[in-house]
Amino acid sequence: MDKEFVVNDVHQTCHIIVVGAGIGGLTLALGLAKQGHQVRIFEQTKTLSEVGAGLQLSANSMKVMRSLGIDNALKTHHFAPQNACIRDYRSGRYYLKSALGKTAQTRYGAPYWHVHRADLHSILVQQCYANGVEIELNHRVMGYRNTKQNVTVLLEGKTEQADLLIGADGIHSKVRELMLGIEAPFFTGQVAWRGTVRADDIKHINVKPDATVWAGPNQHLVTYYLRGGELVNFVAVEERAEWLQESWRTEGNVNELQQKFAGWHPEVTEVLAACDKTFLWALNGRPTLTRWSDQRVVLLGDACHPMLPFMAQGASMAIEDAYVLAQLLTKYHYSDAYQKYEALRKPRTTQIQQMSRDNASLYHMHGGLAGQLKLNALSLVSRYAKG
Ligand code: FAD
Repeated sequence: MDKEFVVNDVHQTCHIIVVGAGIGGLTLALGLAKQGHQVRIFEQTKTLSEVGAGLQLSANSMKVMRSLGIDNALKTHHFAPQNACIRDYRSGRYYLKSALGKTAQTRYGAPYWHVHRADLHSILVQQCYANGVEIELNHRVMGYRNTKQNVTVLLEGKTEQADLLIGADGIHSKVRELMLGIEAPFFTGQVAWRGTVRADDIKHINVKPDATVWAGPNQHLVTYYLRGGELVNFVAVEERAEWLQESWRTEGNVNELQQKFAGWHPEVTEVLAACDKTFLWALNGRPTLTRWSDQRVVLLGDACHPMLPFMAQGASMAIEDAYVLAQLLTKYHYSDAYQKYEALRKPRTTQIQQMSRDNASLYHMHGGLAGQLKLNALSLVSRYAKG
């Protein structure tokens, strides 16, 4: 099978196993299936239930959505923010107000949308099924073995074979561990709370139709609408010393959250007052990986470049990876495709990882300068709102 499935510009299909039906894995599977590859996804969870909250899709990822033909389906569920803002945590004074909406669409050739992760996820799942992708739930990948002819994938209770294996298995990636050994994440000293509230419950405070970072000393909070304005999403970040679980499913204490942000601007405190459920996770950092592939196996998304959420680019970077890898695997032999993929993607994702880290001190006013805040924020918006 080696070198068999791509001969210069004569494209032949191959059988690919993707580990993880998250945003990156599904986008990749859809892109590969549309190019004629035979794709199977193994996902560890038993059901594809509604977990998570808001994701920000900037023009770069919206262009991928358009190329996959799912931007119209997303339109039913999206919210298009008018501005990207940074505001003072107490007075509400604007440090930055940069137009999104039609301005972003015109400037970058695609919109800037907020979507609920569950909505994007379910559209991707439907499209994967419609394009012949097989998704096998309740299948945890435990190991793999490369041979000259193929790759054997070890799952709980069975083994499978494929031409290629792609680890899109997220921040706690097993495929990454198998490839590079057990990793030692370091606690960044920050935790994030997230949740959604019904916009109807806080009508009286008139939350602006913007993506707003509320910047305060050692803390910040982000608010934006989802689902056509039905929900207000929040992510609240706080610095603290102790270590917590790094999970999207760990519940936090709502009273504690409200106390942490007491005295902030009413647009913040009223959102938190309406909240009845919140999730809390530790923000960990990880060193840049030495490599992303091992013969027939390659990593994608959070598995190879997990992001702190301070650039709102985690999902978008996984989506970009998926687009690039699907294109390359269709044009080149896998070993060349993997090499080009890493060469193209690693510098960009490493830079965004670094900018995300830097934004924490910016939003938490460690420099103490509103001017610095404005400068960095402007550069942030103009560089990454585009494609
Ligand atoms: P993920 O989207 O994390 O997907 C990884 C997938 O791999 C998961 O479905 C996981 O169950 C599966 N998996 C892991 N290990 C194995 C294994 N050994 N075998 C088989 N399957 C495996 N980001 C936000 O900004 N806001 C949110 O509200 C939000 N909610 C989230 C909720 C959940 C349940 C998850 C898993 C992630 C959430 N994220 C959220 C993270 C966000 O989706 C990712 O940071 C980003 O989209 C990159 O996607 P990814 O495909 O690399 O990883």
